[in-house]
Amino acid sequence: MSKQMPEKTSSTVLVVDHDPKALAHARQVLADAGFVVAGAEDGAQALERFEQLVPDIVLLSVDLPKSNAFELCSRLSHITSEANPPALVLTGLEDEASINRAFEVGATDFVVKPVNWPIISHRIRHILRARKAFHDIRAAEEKVRHLAYFDGLTGLPNRELFKEHLAQAITIARRQGWRVAALFMDLDEFKRINDILGHSAGDQLLVTVGKRLLQSIRESDRVTHGAISSDGHQAARFGGDEFTVVLAIAHEADDVAKVAQRIKNALALPVLLGEQEVFVTASIGIALYPDDGETVDTLLKNADAAMYEAKRAGKNRYRFYTQSMNAHALRRLTMESKLHKALENDEFWLSYQPQIDAKSGEIVGMEALLRWDNPELGTVSPFEFISIVENNGLIVEIGEWVLKTACAQAQAWQNAGFPRLRLGVNLSPRQLQKNRLVSMVKETLRSTGFSAQYLELELTENLLMRHLDETIEMLDMLCDMGITLSVDDFGTGYSSLNYLKRFPLTTLKIDRSFVNGIPGDADDMAITKAIIAMAHSLKLRVIAEGVEDEQQLAYLCEQGCDEFQGFFFYKPLSAQEFTHVLERQKLILGSRQRKK
Ligand code: C2E
Ligand code: MG
Ligand code: MG
Repeated sequence: MSKQMPEKTSSTVLVVDHDPKALAHARQVLADAGFVVAGAEDGAQALERFEQLVPDIVLLSVDLPKSNAFELCSRLSHITSEANPPALVLTGLEDEASINRAFEVGATDFVVKPVNWPIISHRIRHILRARKAFHDIRAAEEKVRHLAYFDGLTGLPNRELFKEHLAQAITIARRQGWRVAALFMDLDEFKRINDILGHSAGDQLLVTVGKRLLQSIRESDRVTHGAISSDGHQAARFGGDEFTVVLAIAHEADDVAKVAQRIKNALALPVLLGEQEVFVTASIGIALYPDDGETVDTLLKNADAAMYEAKRAGKNRYRFYTQSMNAHALRRLTMESKLHKALENDEFWLSYQPQIDAKSGEIVGMEALLRWDNPELGTVSPFEFISIVENNGLIVEIGEWVLKTACAQAQAWQNAGFPRLRLGVNLSPRQLQKNRLVSMVKETLRSTGFSAQYLELELTENLLMRHLDETIEMLDMLCDMGITLSVDDFGTGYSSLNYLKRFPLTTLKIDRSFVNGIPGDADDMAITKAIIAMAHSLKLRVIAEGVEDEQQLAYLCEQGCDEFQGFFFYKPLSAQEFTHVLERQKLILGSRQRKK
């Protein structure tokens, strides 16, 4: 029979026995079994060794001098708590009372003397293995808890944990008569940074924002004179580019404003992403317990509504919740749900705004503009609902409907013998999907019979800034079909001359806000003048949007602007009204020609 080799192990066993012979024997057998063994003959020695070695397991003989094993066992179990090594009690007293006592004071198991040492070493190994498995499970549980409650990117608590923190703060505040502030923060234009600099830069930015947020909250004691406790994690990443903060405050809402301002200041410093320095701002909404709500959900909803107001008011600011915000938020929600059915319920229609040629004064084009009439909400402005359908993706389907309807209408006018006008259709960035857009446009032109040469797609500057290569490829394909492309609302985005050259563009549309400033605002006038000159040097046609009076028109003419679109000439018209206008123009042109 071959002798079994001792299992290699580095586990340390501390044997405590007052009988030197028994101790020596135990040490020998356990060492042979592969353990690192230390021995102690009394309680004091045992404690000393224990602290030195931190053994993996302790074997205690009960009949120790001075301090008996039960007492020692209970003292050992107080030294370290969670990582406490198991204690195996060796007892000669086979009575139930002493066994119970051993367990009471923290023993893991007991062995009745005389001890069969070779068997004991197996038992020790088994106990240690079970122990390790237990710790592994605990570690895994802890990891799962961390994953479930913390954001992997920033290390901040996540939405779930934040809600728990807020609920706790509310409970305490209710008892103490305190207030709690929930801050809801959303980064401004984060999407743009993500799109232009890439996702890893975006991630890096979020990490930096998380750190700055945490720091401004930790330092909030100084601005609020201790009125806000800065214990624990009160900042969280709520999701995406949304962060939340819970502040427990004793008295004044003013203190919350100071913290919000502090966060704003912390964010205002530039962030270095690779070689690129970027600036990020945030919009913050604040709701207070109990003033603005008494539950986690209400507070969050209202803080979110306040954040939305901060965005509407121009971003990079904070807003306290007010009752009227709920009306806005409610309207947004109502719109959101109604928009899902709007297409199928036939609630959309198109208006067409004429574009006038500067030289001839004739209508040379039109822009199709989407309108939404809902039985309950009435007529809703695209400024209100376009952003909603862009966010939820409905714009893709709606945009296809717009293109199809507009092309069919424009073709109908051509068929009726009216002059062949250029048709401008707005394109949302969401519609720029490689596999969908080009084939959709092709199919629309085919089914409506509308010729590509009369179609002009209006793109926003932001759209041109993202995914450059893919965008260029797609726009080139459209261009090859004979479609022309314009940049809408020019001057409001982040365009540079450089990028304009890279796209197959034909037209720039000067944003209404610049035209609006003529003739009062010298800057607006200078910008308008520069845009026209620049566009012409790039061989682009310029259309001025939002021309409302004669002075604006005169200035634009003087600068050589090519076309005009605005209330001074026409408001957006229904298809029927537009037909009347075309008929009138036809009559006038006809009589002019007859006179010649
Ligand atoms: P936009 O493409 O810049 O359209 C021009 C907007 O300026 C229209 O607003 C038009 O009614 C308005 N406008 C034109 N002349 C004047 C003027 O002299 N004074 C003033 N105050 N306003 C003038 P509207 O129709 O409310 O559309 C707003 C925006 O909604 C559009 O701006 C466009 O960005 C978006 N939009 C409209 N229809 C569609 C669509 O079918 N698809 C997409 N993606 N966006 C659309
Ligand atoms: Mg437009
Ligand atoms: Mg525009």
